[in-house]
Amino acid sequence: MRRIYYDNRLAKCLLWSGYSTAMLFGYICTKYSEPLSFRIKRHESIHAEQYGEVTMLSFLVALVLQIIFGGGWWFVPVPVMYYVLYFLEAAFTWSVRLCTHGWREAFDMAYSNSMFEQEARDGEDAVGYIETRKYLAFLRYFGKI
Ligand SMILES: [Zn+2]
Repeated sequence: MRRIYYDNRLAKCLLWSGYSTAMLFGYICTKYSEPLSFRIKRHESIHAEQYGEVTMLSFLVALVLQIIFGGGWWFVPVPVMYYVLYFLEAAFTWSVRLCTHGWREAFDMAYSNSMFEQEARDGEDAVGYIETRKYLAFLRYFGKI
């Protein structure tokens, strides 16, 4: 399990009501001061694994782009690519669902249908999931509703 930052100021600033814990740049931050349940720890740890994989792949892509085109600017978005992908997938789902559902319902669907969230939800109750999960396991949830 990863280190957890309890009673975290960043979590208190960034997370709105109804949300108490998040994985931020590979670290698990929570508003709570008491120990988190294993389920929440595992859920956020899965997000941390996803973050590490997306960041590593983004770094490799930036490295190839630097070799081909030169310059170091390719590395600037690497630390936030996980959040960019998360946002783009959610924005796409939200915009598609907005036509058939209300604003709020489309927002909830975009969040819950995210490939990153689907994998974390499926694995949060499975003891040993993180140790046995396949590399880029979240990709098998892409496009699933
Ligand atoms: Zn989550």
